[in-house]
Amino acid sequence: MHAFVMRTPQGQRGWEARANAILPGGVNSPVRAWNAVGGQSLPIASANGAIVTDAAGGAYVDLVGSWGAAIAGHANPKVVSAVTRAAKRGLSFGATTEAEVELAELIRDRYAPAERVRLVSTGTEATMTALRLARGATGRDVVIKFAGHYHGHADPFLVAAGSGLATAGAPDSAGVTASTAADTMVLPYGDVDALTGAFAQHGERIAAVIAEGAPCNMGVVRPPDGFNRLIGELTRNEGAVFILDEVLTGFRAGPAGWWGIERDVALAKGEQPWVPDLVTFGKVIGGGLPVASVAGRADLMEQLAPLGPVYQAGTLSGNPVAVAAGLATLDIMDADAYATLARAADEVREGVHEALLASGVTHAVGRAGTLFSFFLGLDEPPVTFADAARQDTGLFRSLFRHMRAEGVSLPPSAFEAWFVSIAHESPITRQIVDAAGSWRPNERAN
Ligand code: PMP
Repeated sequence: MHAFVMRTPQGQRGWEARANAILPGGVNSPVRAWNAVGGQSLPIASANGAIVTDAAGGAYVDLVGSWGAAIAGHANPKVVSAVTRAAKRGLSFGATTEAEVELAELIRDRYAPAERVRLVSTGTEATMTALRLARGATGRDVVIKFAGHYHGHADPFLVAAGSGLATAGAPDSAGVTASTAADTMVLPYGDVDALTGAFAQHGERIAAVIAEGAPCNMGVVRPPDGFNRLIGELTRNEGAVFILDEVLTGFRAGPAGWWGIERDVALAKGEQPWVPDLVTFGKVIGGGLPVASVAGRADLMEQLAPLGPVYQAGTLSGNPVAVAAGLATLDIMDADAYATLARAADEVREGVHEALLASGVTHAVGRAGTLFSFFLGLDEPPVTFADAARQDTGLFRSLFRHMRAEGVSLPPSAFEAWFVSIAHESPITRQIVDAAGSWRPNERAN
């Protein structure tokens, strides 16, 4: 008998013990653990639209959204039916399908810098491949990353990464060799002098600069005006590769990710938009199943095997069932759907902001398109990780618990975005705002 029976607190304790006895920390990804907010999550039984239901039958408005993938709402009928139809045709072939070509074309059509696309299964593979490609193409070793930016868990990026590492207060990971870390140069985000200085001193060694489109793994941070453009200029002038990591922001911050937002601003000013050399996607392009991609300039992408000398492969890359979920999700996300998403984001962001103001809670709102988070205890939105890390995580723990008690499930860390979907309609956004409005910060948890 393997089914969980979860109706009683005793059942809950039994489940915790069972999970902890077999899964390290009771989870298969550390961001799912509730260490930072002092607790252990219940297993999820199901999710529909904006609501997740746990195995004890508790229903919550969900702001985790599978960490961004569930943009069309959980178990969106169109996605589920596309997946079911694909599954009936076969789960995996180990050969190219028409649907893969279609998904790659759709990505390129909506995101012009993606001249060529390679589908992989996770964001980690996408950034790892992008860096190998940059190193292969330039013959150089060093990658510049910014403190607080998360690019998945490949060794070169586990240096001053944000997300789960920020939550755990671990600046680094054990098991990353000193020689690997030595090839990763970490700079403070938004620091023009640090970036130009690094190129002036080490230009000939720099293979790539990698940056999140807009940083969303140290809380949501709006890139300082001109900073992405500067990365583009420096990398171009010095023969390095600009890798824009849009795994989280892609097809979510706006229809063409964060890049699309800056492109539109540039075009409105009559300027030429800057263009990344390589870009990585994940989350939304799989609509809840494992699809990610590295994409970019044709001449760089054609360095990949089998055309070129840079090796990359995957047994389940472009998996037909996963691709069907991605295609259906992007199909749902038309202009109207992005308007709905923006409205949901505006209602929650503005409503919670007003509610916190009314309760006298010092806070700053971080915003990048439809992505947002709240920095409790800060007067202004941060740019660097050092500033973001000054937020009051104790206060966040209190807010998290209060929201949970009010039936709203926040991401269990102050360093994560609050993810809405097109299923977060007005009654639901109202519930989130009301829940925040009844929080009294002196309920502060320990
Ligand atoms: N890059 C960014 C910006 C991310 O937010 C993430 C995941 N949160 C990744 C890469 C890694 O993606 P995955 O978890 O699919 O490996």
